[in-house]
Amino acid sequence: MSNRTLTLTAPLYDYLLAASLREPELLRRLREETAAKVRYPGMQIAPEQGQLMTLLVRLVGARRAIEIGTYTGYSSLCIAMGLPANGQLIACDISEAYTAVARRYWQEAGLATRIELRLAPALETLDRLIADGEADRFDFAFVDADKDGYAGYYERCLTLVRPGGLIGLDNMLWDGAVADPARDDADTVAIRAVTAQIRDDSRVDISLVPIGDGLMLARKR
Ligand code: SAM
Ligand code: CA
Repeated sequence: MSNRTLTLTAPLYDYLLAASLREPELLRRLREETAAKVRYPGMQIAPEQGQLMTLLVRLVGARRAIEIGTYTGYSSLCIAMGLPANGQLIACDISEAYTAVARRYWQEAGLATRIELRLAPALETLDRLIADGEADRFDFAFVDADKDGYAGYYERCLTLVRPGGLIGLDNMLWDGAVADPARDDADTVAIRAVTAQIRDDSRVDISLVPIGDGLMLARKR
């Protein structure tokens, strides 16, 4: 028994996966293909985090979602799988090559009509959505792109989601670097800063969940 969050040892992590992971075969294949053939497979979210995200999308009853940072599509599929048949996910990325893999799996999953890829710097896409009158019209947002962009993405997502909508921000524990005072690189400093900004933001209810590389959840009040 413990009244603080456990350290996940390798055997305990293996147990967690064996005891609770329900990863669809298509997602497992995407994970394996990304690991074998694509650069930087560590950018993909962990499968147990993907399962949590599908659950969260369903819990908020999301119909419209935004993702910032799609890569080969693992997290986009986890979000899209949680949406209803008439749901919509706007997926933002700047890489044609990474998202070509994602598109192939969206097709195979039968979810391609639910996902709209916007290949452009995400800040431009988000500002365009706001300019087009889409404020308060999304239910769920997931931020997982360039870390020095997080503060800007957070503010835009807070505008775009409705009250009661949920924003998830990935990599908020940054492989532990955030807790190492010797680390002062730009990404680590940016993550610490946006974390403090969200902690002190009375517009949201929050939890920093120690799953994967740290998932900050912020629910718009
Ligand atoms: N969420 C993905 C997953 O679970 O598989 C991983 C996303 S990966 C960490 C970050 C992605 O952000 C990369 O595919 C990269 O091309 C994209 N990216 C980087 N800068 C961006 C920007 N300014 N606008 C949109 N996407 C960007
Ligand atoms: Ca990530």
